[in-house]
Amino acid sequence: MSVESSLKILEYLDKVSKQPILLNGEPFGTPPVRRVILNESFFWKDDCHMCGKCCPNETTVWTEEGLRRMVGSTDDDFTKWGLDLVVISEIASRIQEQVADINGKEVVFFVSDKDKPNEAFRLEWPDRKEQPRCHWLFEKDGTYRCRIHPVRSVTCGMPHCRFFHSAKTHTTSIGVSQFGRNWALKCPVEFGAVDEGSTQTRILWLERLYATAEDCGIDTFLPEILHYLHLGNRSSTVFEAKPPRKLFTVR
Ligand code: SF4
Ligand code: SF4
Repeated sequence: MSVESSLKILEYLDKVSKQPILLNGEPFGTPPVRRVILNESFFWKDDCHMCGKCCPNETTVWTEEGLRRMVGSTDDDFTKWGLDLVVISEIASRIQEQVADINGKEVVFFVSDKDKPNEAFRLEWPDRKEQPRCHWLFEKDGTYRCRIHPVRSVTCGMPHCRFFHSAKTHTTSIGVSQFGRNWALKCPVEFGAVDEGSTQTRILWLERLYATAEDCGIDTFLPEILHYLHLGNRSSTVFEAKPPRKLFTVR
């Protein structure tokens, strides 16, 4: 398969994985993560100005998790965003199945390819040159919106939530950040105070990421992070990997 198209999903999972990842027999990403820090900023308010700057002309990829959302979609899921459920048929006509071997498990990725650069929808902004944009982006009332918003991939669902990984300490910190993404993409969003609505949305996307990890058969920190959040905890904390059990004790 084209490994490239599944990489976006695997890059998220790699940063919270408790186990090494072998993709088609080759080591992928970093060694297992030993510690995950849920940063205070995970609970901060974020917003979207719908400028379209973070929607490049790239492939869109789902696992079974995304397919289940598509199959279960209703008219209401789309009309409440001013969208049309009919787009599901377009996704179905574009999707190609790509199979990968992840740690010995056959995993199917569902891939909608990016447009050819000369056919893609293009946009320019006062602070950026014209660029080809995602196939699913469209203009409405001066804003740029996603036609597949209710069923978008996990790689699109958390635009500001970053998984910062330190290879030196085998630690990943999860939170929102102005640095990097906002600088590179020129995303205009500024983060506000603690906000339950934004937190709930991030929890929902972590649940979807967990379902994706299950599809890929990758053991991650996501279950304990979600358990902590579902208990109503709303403060920074640290999740540590349990030390490996000793098979023999030397007396
Ligand atoms: S760049 Fe920021 S404000 Fe613009 S669409 Fe993306 S998340 Fe929204
Ligand atoms: S699928 Fe939607 S959210 Fe994702 S890049 Fe395309 S337009 Fe943006």
